[in-house]
Amino acid sequence: MNCPDCGDERTRVIDTEASADGTSVRRRRECQRCSFRFTTYERPEWDSLQVKKRDGTIEPFNRSKLRAGIERAVEKRDVAETTVTTLVDDIESALQDREARIVPSSLIGELVSENLRTLDKVAYIRFVSVYKAFSEPQEFLRELDAVLDAELDDFEAPNGSQ
Ligand SMILES: [Zn+2]
Repeated sequence: MNCPDCGDERTRVIDTEASADGTSVRRRRECQRCSFRFTTYERPEWDSLQVKKRDGTIEPFNRSKLRAGIERAVEKRDVAETTVTTLVDDIESALQDREARIVPSSLIGELVSENLRTLDKVAYIRFVSVYKAFSEPQEFLRELDAVLDAELDDFEAPNGSQ
């Protein structure tokens, strides 16, 4: 990277920092000759993350769509706005960390289900009922049974002998 001031090619990196959204790296550089300081941004060459839907079509990953799906599931549940943001962040970075730039929508569905299951059982069931009921009805019913069984156990536990 040549110095934008004097054109010398001897510049060195004095600071490196990832952008808040993790999609680029910002470097502060200093020219070894004239001491001019400047900033460069490095971005991966690939396009943004793509999602392959069940019908085979591919569309760009859409963070707000992911968030909307989660928000629908947690609606009126005791789940904080910041918790949803963290969840979306976690899922997005798990996807970004993969080598493949095209992720199947089923993987996103799995990640959301897994996370909701530990977060809030009602939200989990709501999400899974939309996401799985149509494509895998048998699996949906099994999961519903499993969650209801677990809820029943929770309910019975405090009283023991009753
Ligand atoms: Zn220079």
